[in-house]
Amino acid sequence: MSWSETLDLRTSGRVVVRPDIPHGVSGRYRRIKTALNVAMLAIFFCVPWLRWDRGPHLPDQAVLIDLPGRRLFAFGLEFWPQDLPIAVGVLVGAALLLFYATTLAGRIWCGFACPQTVWSDLLFSVDRMIARVAGRGPGERRLRVVVWFAIALSTASGFAAWFNDATELPGLIVSGTATPGVYASLVILTGTTFTLALYARERVCLHMCPWPRFQAALLDRDSLVVTYQEWRGEPRGKARVPLRPDIGEPGLVALARQASDLGGQLAERGDCIDCTRCVTACPTGVDIRNGLQMGCIGCGLCIDACDQVMSRLERPAGLIQFDNEAGLTRRSVEKPPVSWRRPKALVFAGAALAALSISAYGAATMPGLLVHLDPQRNPPFVLMSDGSVRNDYALRISHRLARLDGVSIRIDGLDGAKLTLSAGTESASGTPLVGLGRDRSADERLLVTLPRGLSFGGRRPFDFVLSSQDGRELARVPSYFWGPER
Ligand code: SF4
Ligand code: SF4
Repeated sequence: MSWSETLDLRTSGRVVVRPDIPHGVSGRYRRIKTALNVAMLAIFFCVPWLRWDRGPHLPDQAVLIDLPGRRLFAFGLEFWPQDLPIAVGVLVGAALLLFYATTLAGRIWCGFACPQTVWSDLLFSVDRMIARVAGRGPGERRLRVVVWFAIALSTASGFAAWFNDATELPGLIVSGTATPGVYASLVILTGTTFTLALYARERVCLHMCPWPRFQAALLDRDSLVVTYQEWRGEPRGKARVPLRPDIGEPGLVALARQASDLGGQLAERGDCIDCTRCVTACPTGVDIRNGLQMGCIGCGLCIDACDQVMSRLERPAGLIQFDNEAGLTRRSVEKPPVSWRRPKALVFAGAALAALSISAYGAATMPGLLVHLDPQRNPPFVLMSDGSVRNDYALRISHRLARLDGVSIRIDGLDGAKLTLSAGTESASGTPLVGLGRDRSADERLLVTLPRGLSFGGRRPFDFVLSSQDGRELARVPSYFWGPER
């Protein structure tokens, strides 16, 4: 038994077998799907090749997930692990947008934007092309598997390019000098792409994806879902003669013959001619005439297929269309409007907007310089042999600013104090300087000493002032200096 036979569906007591390659259609939803597929595949494969100048020691890839460095570059932004709340906000906002879209128009995410759908659609197009060129048979099947494998390998390479320098990666892979992680990801992703997107295809949507199981909770009577207009299509029946002049006989003659053939039953027949084009074009093999089903991903291809048939029959389009529950009783060929202003939809839209706005604000106000100062309080101060008093501070600096190689540090608010660094150098003006190097971070020990005559009892507040080498103040870190009790 072929896999397609497991998708057999019964309509009006007879089995409708969807072919292993769904029939191609043309129409509005096919054009939208094709445009979105091209856009998403272009983003997936092309974005890692975009360049972005960040100065020396930094990758010039516009978008790069740098796992060893534990950072994400996205054009002018750089994210660190501590920026995880921003990512959480984006994910929550995206999930709420998904809920919003589902409330408005059912599974349009599944039908138009889900990567599983995009790759499945791509492969169905490739399969149709190969079948046209090579005909059907064992040779065509072998050719399909070779092309599937090439697409799976390209997908895995495209994915790896998001984590490595895309311009160097092909050369490294071919020369065998890429890291073991690259080869491991190629093997794993080629295997999963081949299995899930190329072989399993719609079975992932039908049997593995959890989303359809709970999306029903988001639908209400105003949600638009792909609907067969039963009031108009039934009772269905085969067309006995062609109805249009351009595919056979003049229309009026054909109609007269058909009326005569059917013994006057023509007037009783609905618009569905039971051609099963809607089933054979469906990527999941659903017969939408049986009502809304979990297997329907809302891709709209059955709408295009049926509209083509209706066009040939010179009947109004929309025997299958996006419709709401009221459409079952409205009995109109008019398309229902999208109901944007329902409370549930507005709540999802508002919450999504809030989550994304908070994340955008967080990204826009991310500090470029992170300073962690830890006063060493065991003991809180050291009394030196010359009578001066010294406090120690542990300093950790990391930054994500462009072209910053070092930070100079001075003290503000503690007159007469001298600052020295345990391992640092001095700038040309004699100010202590912390070099940041390629890692753009440094650990330093700061020693603050007050001469004997200036020493005091208890603690006194002061600031460490960190500046770039061109004198721009980057941060001011408050702390305390401790002296011996008197
Ligand atoms: S494509 Fe339209 S006319 Fe043909 S079987 Fe489907 S609903 Fe009926
Ligand atoms: S029934 Fe129509 S909308 Fe649903 S998956 Fe099949 S072709 Fe797409």
